[in-house]
Amino acid sequence: MNNISHAYIFLGTEEEAAREALKLAQMANCEDNLAPCGFCNSCRKIQNNVHPDVVHIYPESAFIKIEQIRKLILDIAQKPVEGKRKFYILHQAHTMTPQAQNALLKTLEDPFTESTVVLLSSNIKQLIPTVISRCQVRDFSQEEKSSLSIDTRQRIAEILLHTVQTTELYEISTLVKELSERDEKAEEILEFIISLYRDVLVAKTNSSVAVINQDLESIISKFASKLTVKAIIMSLDVAYEQLRAVKSRGNKNLIWYNLLMGLEEVV
Ligand SMILES: [Zn+2]
Repeated sequence: MNNISHAYIFLGTEEEAAREALKLAQMANCEDNLAPCGFCNSCRKIQNNVHPDVVHIYPESAFIKIEQIRKLILDIAQKPVEGKRKFYILHQAHTMTPQAQNALLKTLEDPFTESTVVLLSSNIKQLIPTVISRCQVRDFSQEEKSSLSIDTRQRIAEILLHTVQTTELYEISTLVKELSERDEKAEEILEFIISLYRDVLVAKTNSSVAVINQDLESIISKFASKLTVKAIIMSLDVAYEQLRAVKSRGNKNLIWYNLLMGLEEVV
């Protein structure tokens, strides 16, 4: 398996993300070169967490500390013991202290050819943007695709695209009006917007995994070319904030105004 990257972020619940990380480690090390067989010695050892080349790192008293990352850095330079590729799986990676993340960053910038680091996280906001930008992001937390029509999703995406380009103030009020007058539920639109920015993040980190809104691929790459990883994460924050406002029955006009202004500010 040559197409396995040196660093990933797997988003999702601990259980989902850990299952996918083990699958990736099995795929890279399977003795039968199947994808993966699940039965060979290597696949079974990985499944049972006893493979010497698959190292699990967990938070120690609530944090992954710099000492644990230093240990990883010393170990990562060594060749695999019996497998083809070593894996370092960091559980609840968002509990890494800032010092731990900065130490890890150096390894991500200068990767080893026979090793892969997988960060499992349910909260990407606590990872520093420089770490995120060095990893391929895969999102396993996503539910099914939005029920909004392709035309609606296309139009919403176009409206949002205005916020990453230069927009005059009068245009914002026109767009706010358009969003307020839509028949679809604000909650549903915001959930779509969140999935869209997740896709932009995936595209930005060159992940090979399919995005959710595949039919909006060209517009997603436009966003990705305009926004930094940090701006994408801040955009997600803005959208989540308005989703909370909708759920507490906020004023619709104000929600769309705050969303568009907020998105414009992060650029
Ligand atoms: Zn196997």
